[in-house]
Amino acid sequence: MLNTNNIGLLKNSKILITGAGGFIGGALTKLFYEQGFEVVAVDIKPLSAWYQKFSVKNISTDLAKIKQCIKVTKNVDVVFNLAADMGGMGFIENNKAKCMLSVLINTHLLHASNLNGVKKYFFSSSACVYDQNKQTLEFNAGLSERDAYPANPEDGYGWEKLFSERMCRHFREDFGLNTYVARFHNVYGPFGTFEGGREKAPAAICRKVIMAKLNSLPDIEIWGDGNQTRSFTYIDDAIIGTTKLISSQVLEPINIGSSKLHTINELVDIVESIAGIKLERRYNLDAPKGVRGRNSNNEMILSKLNWEPKIELREGIENTYKWIYDSIKKS
Ligand code: NAD
Repeated sequence: MLNTNNIGLLKNSKILITGAGGFIGGALTKLFYEQGFEVVAVDIKPLSAWYQKFSVKNISTDLAKIKQCIKVTKNVDVVFNLAADMGGMGFIENNKAKCMLSVLINTHLLHASNLNGVKKYFFSSSACVYDQNKQTLEFNAGLSERDAYPANPEDGYGWEKLFSERMCRHFREDFGLNTYVARFHNVYGPFGTFEGGREKAPAAICRKVIMAKLNSLPDIEIWGDGNQTRSFTYIDDAIIGTTKLISSQVLEPINIGSSKLHTINELVDIVESIAGIKLERRYNLDAPKGVRGRNSNNEMILSKLNWEPKIELREGIENTYKWIYDSIKKS
């Protein structure tokens, strides 16, 4: 059970979670459902395609449309907006327009939340808002919140997130809507995308190693040279951070991410050791790789929320590997 005593502050609130059929939205829905909250869960995907479903009000609809946003925010106290057309590097580098169109979801949801008197509004931003010039080396001591400006974010996806962050800020300043913005860093765990082109590195590597093991293949493909670095945040930490944030007075964007840097090769080492195999690595230098090194600076979260993500990569990957392995075996 997650340590989320702080959501007691939201007691008797009606909660709307968008993107609830996806990875983080599904985990957040589980938490609020288990804690007995009245929850409305919304996603554009048909209900049959949701990763997790609970006995709450589940709605499949397109939140890029203002009418739908107005409908689903009726009588809602707290909105968690996790809906976006997104994926890992392979998706965002090749679908910039699609990523930017998520601006419609956040804009219409903010507008509708304001009209319907929502009390708290959470927006899921990303480490992709940070200046790309500060991420050119493998060693990255950590991006702090002020590194988002002067603006030079990831093209497409990052620009949308940065714009939507500002939209949140101006709805707060101009209309008094309490907005909260988390900049998530590489969240991974069970019940997320692991195939089809939208998956991120941890899930993709688990899948590749599992497929190699099941099919007795000698090697796997790695995107890039494997020396690029990232910090990885386990889903439970992302959820705890989100609930701490929504229960705080922190209204400016804040990092929710691990500050432990790993190379992609280290990630592969961990997955291989969990699988109990050793594989040849074919490095594809032409594949999408993103920035060279990215890490979270956690000074702000430590000082404002007295907490930072704690779950070690090995522990989180064990759970993720097991879930992906079981899912592949089932299908
Ligand atoms: P996800 O793709 O699993 O979930 C997003 C969900 O939004 C999907 O289920 C999708 O169907 C839904 N959606 C898309 N368009 C919609 C629309 N028009 N109307 C209603 N629903 C729609 O992604 P996730 O990993 O759970 O990410 C959730 C949020 O967190 C996103 O905003 C994402 O940009 C952000 N984020 C995630 C990470 C990460 O590492 N997972 C990192 C940084 C930021």
